[in-house]
Amino acid sequence: MKVAVVKESAPGERRVALVPETVPRLVQAGLEVLVEEGAGDSAWFPDSAYTAAGAAVTSTDNLYATADVILTVTRPDPAAVARLRAGQAVIGMLSPLTDPHLARDLAAAGVTAVSLDGLPRTLSRAQGMDALSSQANVAGYKAALVAADAYGRFFPLLITAAGTARPAKLLVLGAGVAGLQAIGTARRLGAQVSGYDVRPASKGEVESLGATFIELTSVLSAAGEGGYARELTAEERDAQQAELAGHIARQDVVITTAQVPGRRPPLLVTEDAVRAMSAGSVIVDMGASPLGGNVAGSVAGKTIVTANGVTIIGAQHLAAAVPTAASSAYSRNISALLLHLVSEGSLAIDTTDEIQAGVVITHGGEVVHPAVAKLLAESTPSQGN
Ligand code: NAD
Repeated sequence: MKVAVVKESAPGERRVALVPETVPRLVQAGLEVLVEEGAGDSAWFPDSAYTAAGAAVTSTDNLYATADVILTVTRPDPAAVARLRAGQAVIGMLSPLTDPHLARDLAAAGVTAVSLDGLPRTLSRAQGMDALSSQANVAGYKAALVAADAYGRFFPLLITAAGTARPAKLLVLGAGVAGLQAIGTARRLGAQVSGYDVRPASKGEVESLGATFIELTSVLSAAGEGGYARELTAEERDAQQAELAGHIARQDVVITTAQVPGRRPPLLVTEDAVRAMSAGSVIVDMGASPLGGNVAGSVAGKTIVTANGVTIIGAQHLAAAVPTAASSAYSRNISALLLHLVSEGSLAIDTTDEIQAGVVITHGGEVVHPAVAKLLAESTPSQGN
């Protein structure tokens, strides 16, 4: 079976789905590995490193013509989708719940689509395949660095002949995988860090990193299913925003990472809260998206300075901005999933397996993932009426 690694085409995307280090594992499993010319260049993995690891570097045309399985980081663009043919498989982070139409097109083309973002993350045998966590971890690290870079003072306490600098006060809102890594990184840079989350279980995790946990009296717990948060009610949200505003006003830096699966990111930092911050403060909104983010006024991919001097960074592509580490981790995740799917040298799709039920989106010309099929049914007007 031929497994191919494509060169990513999304703007700002510097990661590659497979790094040379992982190639021998696949070759040992009897797979042939093809790599599109220059696929790893932006992550500092030259073609020669893939060849040395046992892969064959090839042209785009040959890759699409001969590959059985195509490995990607993000969704294939329309030009790539047009090149795919029936019987081929694509494995990547395809975000089918954000936009199910790619799944519809791939099903129509007879392509098997496997998406790492559907993985059942709490299953211990799936942890090595958890790309959402590995990439959130890289993004959280980078968020702290982006904040430090934009901040006009030091993060650590510095005592010098030219005077003493007090440490920066930094608050992380949302203490999941990305938030905890942002907390750890900001602590290592010497900031005075606190963290907040609606899941009470995160208190111990925040404190174990040496940060202070902020407990609100207005929202006690919003733990949802599978370790995720649930959406707050309108009253809870208003009370949370009002109570958080008091804490936010005392911070030099705020990093927000809050997400609720299948919903737009919750608004945690209101316009009033931004207005109450001092000039020179920095906010990094990791929830920034075209639907809106965790911070009022943030724009994905843009940096805005408010009239009162607060820099709001709508973070985008943070994991892609640490491409070598992010690709190495992703490569381990995707190859673990690929090897789980392969039996006797070919893909063995079986959605009675718990892992496959989460990740297999299309197969045999159908959208087989129930949640994606439901979304499509809701978004596609019925024919003939
Ligand atoms: P996520 O990206 O969905 O959300 C980030 C954080 O935002 C979460 O901690 C969430 O509680 C928080 N949040 C949501 N709404 C909020 C609000 N209104 N105010 C404040 N915070 C809010 O989360 P994630 O990083 O993917 O992790 C979610 C959970 O899954 C965590 O409990 C994590 O430990 C768990 N997890 C478990 C495994 C495993 O068992 N192997 C793997 C990965 C993640």
